[in-house]
Amino acid sequence: MKKTLFLSPPTFDGYDGGAGSRYQCKREVKSFWYPTWLAQLAALVPGSKLIDAPARGLSLDVLLRTAGDYEFLVIYTSTPSFLNDTKVAEAYKAANPNLLIGFCGPHVAINNESSIQASTAIDFVCDTEFDFTIQEIAQGAALEDVVGITILKDGKAHFTGKRPLIEDMDTLPWVTDVYKRDLVTSDYYNGYMLHPYMSLYTGRGCKSRCTFCLWPQTIAGHNYRTRSVANVAAEIKSARDTFPEIKEFFFDDDTLTDNRANVEALAVELGKLGVTWSCNAKANVPYETLKIMKDNGLRLLLVGFESGDQKILNNIKKGILVTRAKEFTRNCHELGILIHGTFIMGLPGETRETIESTIQYAQELNPKTIQVSLPAAYPGTFLYTQAKENGWLIAEDGDQLVSENGVQNSILDYPHLSRAEIFDAVDTFYKRFYFRPGKMASLFFDMCKDWSVMKRQLREGVEFFRFLWGRENTA
Ligand code: SF4
Repeated sequence: MKKTLFLSPPTFDGYDGGAGSRYQCKREVKSFWYPTWLAQLAALVPGSKLIDAPARGLSLDVLLRTAGDYEFLVIYTSTPSFLNDTKVAEAYKAANPNLLIGFCGPHVAINNESSIQASTAIDFVCDTEFDFTIQEIAQGAALEDVVGITILKDGKAHFTGKRPLIEDMDTLPWVTDVYKRDLVTSDYYNGYMLHPYMSLYTGRGCKSRCTFCLWPQTIAGHNYRTRSVANVAAEIKSARDTFPEIKEFFFDDDTLTDNRANVEALAVELGKLGVTWSCNAKANVPYETLKIMKDNGLRLLLVGFESGDQKILNNIKKGILVTRAKEFTRNCHELGILIHGTFIMGLPGETRETIESTIQYAQELNPKTIQVSLPAAYPGTFLYTQAKENGWLIAEDGDQLVSENGVQNSILDYPHLSRAEIFDAVDTFYKRFYFRPGKMASLFFDMCKDWSVMKRQLREGVEFFRFLWGRENTA
């Protein structure tokens, strides 16, 4: 095996853009997802090292001190950070000219030709699912013989061919062993999970076709492939015993609840382990399934409501009825399942009226916490092509997705609704959701119950206000 470094590179301060982040930007409160895709690679390459520079607060200068220790560097990149990550690769190559450097992630899978030509420091870029591709290269295979990469050949981009997606997900080794070896669990937190938490996958792919959603349309596909329940339960049992400090496990599958039989069986096994857990869900899970999940340790669901306007939900192919989402939310409230609801301002069809109705919808649903974002039209998504064709996109290369300080930019501009109005709607949404007497009282009540919660929420409150004040639409 080559001596291999898997790197989530340093970039904007507080930028959550690593290999576990669905859309890449600086958050309302400082948050980091576990770099799970990179950890999966590291688990396939014995003796490797995983460094999550943003979460650890490591600068490039510090990282370069050990550049000579490695033969192979793999960088997980994102559309907003690609230019920055290319500079990181160039600095590594300058420090260690013999270093083989490869990039992976949706951005290079979609823009393979321009990415391989972006810098001579990059030796190859990966296509879609890249786990065994990287393992083969780390084992010493010649780049030309490896399926699933783009290299430069005679000065031109050369794609070595499509690698099939992994069918047997149990062939992937456990990421939590790499977490133990290379990560610090207290580095990972966000505003709605217990601290410290731990996230991992039980499967990849999502059968839904939401037009804005990055991973299913680029690297993971629309066939939801899951690990066996026994395999997941064994990993959680091991992680529970290895990391006694972990208060909550989060299953970051695109939509864990898509396979009901599977999630119900998994819930029963998790219940036997006595762990607290949470996951992503669509707002269509039936009461009976929710009950089984809740009875077996489920604490919170992360739910993409996106909009309260049915036409917008249809426009983005969400496959959800507003009436069904309301019933689902009522059921969660009744069962005591907390919801972190996510909404998007500025989707196709948005008007001043739908912004208002979605804010009222969120108030009516009243999830525990919310996240309001702007449409991230990433290359490779239906939304990106649609926006380009309709002239809504203010910049095509994606480097305007975030501002210079890493905060999400408003990049869609409609004839009837400007990007500035869309941008401002995010602030309005947050303020009108949180600054209600009932909501503030409930958050204050939670703080009073637990001193550690109070300390954390006060810190996050300060960060949240700073975020709102510091938002600046610079594109
Ligand atoms: S349901 Fe969620 S994960 Fe699946 S495509 Fe839609 S937004 Fe993406």
